[in-house]
Amino acid sequence: MCAVTTVASQQAPDPFREIAERYVRLVLAIGQHDGDYVDAFYGPPEWRKQAESDKTALAELVTRAAALEADVVKTPLPTWKDDAELWRLRKQYLERQVAAMRARLSMLQGQKLTFDQESRALYDAVAPHQTDAQFGAIIAKLDALLPGQGSLIARYEAFKAGYIIPPDRLDKVFQAAIRACRDRTTTYIDLPRGESFTVEYVTGKSWSGYNWYQGGYKSLIQVNTDLPIYIDRALDLACHEGYPGHHVYNVLLERTLVRDRGWIEFTVYPLFSPQSLIAEGTANYGIEVAFPKEERLVYERDVLFPLAGIKGGNAKEYYQVMELVDQLSYAGNEAARRYLDGQINATQAVEWLEKFAMMPRARAEQRVKFFDQYRSYVINYNLGKDLVKTFIERRTRNDGTPRKKWTEFAALLSSPRLPSGLK
Ligand SMILES: [Zn+2]
Repeated sequence: MCAVTTVASQQAPDPFREIAERYVRLVLAIGQHDGDYVDAFYGPPEWRKQAESDKTALAELVTRAAALEADVVKTPLPTWKDDAELWRLRKQYLERQVAAMRARLSMLQGQKLTFDQESRALYDAVAPHQTDAQFGAIIAKLDALLPGQGSLIARYEAFKAGYIIPPDRLDKVFQAAIRACRDRTTTYIDLPRGESFTVEYVTGKSWSGYNWYQGGYKSLIQVNTDLPIYIDRALDLACHEGYPGHHVYNVLLERTLVRDRGWIEFTVYPLFSPQSLIAEGTANYGIEVAFPKEERLVYERDVLFPLAGIKGGNAKEYYQVMELVDQLSYAGNEAARRYLDGQINATQAVEWLEKFAMMPRARAEQRVKFFDQYRSYVINYNLGKDLVKTFIERRTRNDGTPRKKWTEFAALLSSPRLPSGLK
């Protein structure tokens, strides 16, 4: 890159500046009608105050969103050559995010979409349909692995009971897992000085963990302790919510796009939007980037199991079972699809999750509450992970070293790429 070009482009007016501000203000205004919509905002505080005092009616927001979408589409990309790819992604990001915003607005006005229509409109993706027979084949393997009396779900619960982190050791185990995830992440990704997060333990939520990004490179991570927390959740949560997951994603977007370039649209994160598929997909794929299978097994066995006081546990056997259960993740989507499309009721959804997704009753009930609150958002976790994994693996086909994988992963975390851009 030529230094003169860089200076010229920095001085040129940003063709999307006004659009970006209208986008942020619209997201904040929709947040007045939809309590879960604004997941994070760290732009000018007076914009939020303005949205609160205006309380603009939905019909007016619909008009504004349509006008915004038209303006994004007709605004040409800048003609300077440096970072052309990033500018193309930015424009595509704005187009898709605003299209999803319009879909969410129509839902808030009462429009009913099927599960697949909704996930395409909000998250730019549709989860594959899987059959009972596909799940049955995985369940048969679990059945063979978990011998004993009683139903498979009862045997599974009994097996897992030996792997619960005692509540009084939870913070110690979780803090160790966070340190390990951070060490691995900072070996390959240069994080800004001062980044950090706080961990809180909460109850009464439909999710098991949540990252609330505060801006200024800080996050608040909440861990739900309503249900027993099993040993595998320590690394999963530490990677997913923290390093190299949500916390790192938000920190890198803030540094690369907001602070370095002044792209203010990234100071707001509307939850029901395609950005969520990238957020959840990278957070889940990040677990295996930081801890490839064999390394994870050794770390769990030698560090986390003793810290949690798990005696007589067998890390290899535990993760063999958990890997099979993970292959049933699309059964969760299937339950959500059938439930939200009105084919089954809440009780039947719980039964389905017990039978095909290996979720004990209390966990299945919590999951159905999640379906009620977040609907087709569920696809972002497993489909998101699969799409991100395929994308990174394609880019590392000729160089499978950890450094190359981390480099590609960090580039994705620092860019406005959306699901359709992963192709
Ligand atoms: Zn997440």
